[in-house]
Amino acid sequence: MGIFALMAVFAHPDDEAFGTGGTLARYAAEGHDVYVVTATRGEAGHIALPDLATPASLPAVREQELRCACKAYGIPPPIFLDYLDGQLTIVNQGQAVGKLVRIIRQLKPQVIITFGPDGIYGHYDHLAVHRWATAAYDLAADAECFPDRDACDTHQVSKLYYRVTPQEALDARMAAGQRAAVPMDGVPFPFVGYPMREINAIVDVGAYVEAKRLGILCHATQVGLENRYAQAPEEVLADPWFRQETYVLARSMVGRPERVENDLLARVR
Ligand SMILES: [Zn+2]
Repeated sequence: MGIFALMAVFAHPDDEAFGTGGTLARYAAEGHDVYVVTATRGEAGHIALPDLATPASLPAVREQELRCACKAYGIPPPIFLDYLDGQLTIVNQGQAVGKLVRIIRQLKPQVIITFGPDGIYGHYDHLAVHRWATAAYDLAADAECFPDRDACDTHQVSKLYYRVTPQEALDARMAAGQRAAVPMDGVPFPFVGYPMREINAIVDVGAYVEAKRLGILCHATQVGLENRYAQAPEEVLADPWFRQETYVLARSMVGRPERVENDLLARVR
């Protein structure tokens, strides 16, 4: 095996934490290069405690929170696309995809992780990033070199994974009294669950749950200081759904497995 690179593409600081933090920590610990690309600084997010930030300071605070999380995962500082939270559906898509294509050509990841078409709970920004990252996966290898028509060093990424939540995990969360939906514009949008038969990769992050928990706690403006990750760590770390992260294989240049895999670098190594 050699050293490979994984790149996660998300919309807001904290999008990486709950569903992929263990994966990022695991591949970094195994010696691979792991990058997080985040489209915004999350300035439209709520502020759990007034002591933590003001609306004016929130972008800088959330940038620091994501830097803190990346440290917890053992990966380099995040790369920002510098867009505004809540505005991703109206930015120039050619520019946004072009930015991602250039980053892919520079970092040359074998694997890209992003949102699925569900956007976790249908957040417009998540849906936009899902579309951009999927387009960028294809265009990074474009023979005509989009967006730098004259010359570029194209790169073929081996696999594209969508990070998804199994329906069983949602059922377990609801049974434990956790929220089943996220309110947006006064409307509760439920988390979208996937049947296990649609899931192609289950990554065991059991050895990295403490890094994942610490990454989540870095996002204090979002999770507050009193939450189950801070107050019931034993329960969180023992939760089987916290100890695995689940993916749909959206694109593959290295074949499609018949069975569920446990490694995002399977058939790439
Ligand atoms: Zn988000």
